[in-house]
Amino acid sequence: MTRHFNFSAGPAALPNDVLLEAQENLCDWQGKGLSIMEMSHRSDEFVSVAEQAEQDLRDLMSIPESYRVLFLQGGATSQFAMLPMNLLRGHQSADYINTGIWSKKAIAEAKRYCQVNIAASTEAEQFSRVPDMSEIHLSKDAAYVHYTSNETIGGVEFNYVPQVEKPLVVDMSSNILSKPMDVTKFGLIYAGAQKNIGPAGLTVVIVKDELLGQTLAGTPSMYDYQVQAQGGSMHNTPPTFAWYLAGLVFKWLKRQGGLEAMVEVNQRKASKLYAAIDNSDFFSNPIRPSSRSSMNVPFTLADDRLDKTFLAEADAMGLLNLQGHRSVGGMRASIYNAVPEAAVDALIDFMAHFEKRYG
Ligand SMILES: *Cc1c(COP(=O)(O)O)cnc(C)c1O
Repeated sequence: MTRHFNFSAGPAALPNDVLLEAQENLCDWQGKGLSIMEMSHRSDEFVSVAEQAEQDLRDLMSIPESYRVLFLQGGATSQFAMLPMNLLRGHQSADYINTGIWSKKAIAEAKRYCQVNIAASTEAEQFSRVPDMSEIHLSKDAAYVHYTSNETIGGVEFNYVPQVEKPLVVDMSSNILSKPMDVTKFGLIYAGAQKNIGPAGLTVVIVKDELLGQTLAGTPSMYDYQVQAQGGSMHNTPPTFAWYLAGLVFKWLKRQGGLEAMVEVNQRKASKLYAAIDNSDFFSNPIRPSSRSSMNVPFTLADDRLDKTFLAEADAMGLLNLQGHRSVGGMRASIYNAVPEAAVDALIDFMAHFEKRYG
């Protein structure tokens, strides 16, 4: 078996140790004679797996008792609609910060339910940075303020948490668990699992208790946070295997030393990769340094006719999935928690070697 270095933006790399542990238990989970995938979600066995996963996530992120943790389906994209359905609470509008493609999708969906005020946008600057706090203009009547803490496609990340009076709602899909975050600053945090949590099919929502229970009339019960909270995220059959695997990832993160340890490695990985790009005349990244993502590093070659060669040679070296998003082209290295520092070192070596031959 060969495990190559995988720079996929999502579904993304999972830790080797987690996959091996899942493999060991795949057919016969802890000597029970069946797979965790084949058990009732209401069995004592699965319920204990589910509860342990929640507890480990609470420990990792220091989530207070006053927040519910939900394990849902439908991806971050379903949250784009569930947010206004659940959080408008009689208001007619919400504030959104526009920093890239994912913010725009969240905005478009929210517009189906309410008036959207664009509190700040860096679109005129091709989303090459996040706005400063002083550029964010909040409105009086907004039900909540939404932003995307890391734009997975653009490679733009907030290096601060906006200070607002209203409930702060964040799409943390691609940088949750990459660094310590003060959960108490947020009304709601959501993240599709397939970047930094586990396999696709699971969506994690962390929501303050007091925001629940005022869902828009006509909201399907599956989309009602209150219903999901009361049912322990088991209003219907949850994605049990994805939930189980997420739990293994949480345990793995704890063994690594938690988020304080992860942020150190992540910063080291990102800064050496950006340094390699900045120190060359051949590679470039357009994002203002203080807004650069530590999870998704887009870069271009001086001559885009070399893109195909770059990708083919990288692939042959076992450096996979470096192609940029179809909407922006170029390259993108996603260096989530599960991507080891050795992968980044190998990529940097390859880039230097490629530049020597073609630059
Ligand atoms: C991937 C991603 C999404 C979409 O997630 P789905 O699970 O495919 O719905 C939304 N927001 C961000 C920031 C993402 O990275």
